[in-house]
Amino acid sequence: MPFYEYRCENCGHELEAMQKVSDAPLRDCPECGQAALVKLISAAGFQLKGGGWYATDFKDKGGKPAESAAAGGHACGSGGCPACE
Ligand SMILES: [Zn+2]
Repeated sequence: MPFYEYRCENCGHELEAMQKVSDAPLRDCPECGQAALVKLISAAGFQLKGGGWYATDFKDKGGKPAESAAAGGHACGSGGCPACE
């Protein structure tokens, strides 16, 4: 189960959450109560292999991460990678 890091854009609070890949991203900040959390990509504790499929492939295919990664062949999950756009 991967770790996700979140940061609140309202108050700057940061937290880590261990979620299933099928769980919805966290939104509400436990500190200020605003729905201002944004997911960060962490090099440590985050499996980059499984990061790239989430936003793009999951909705369309509804497949498991392993299937998407095997079919796509590339999923670096960095968000800045041209191949992942
Ligand atoms: Zn906050």
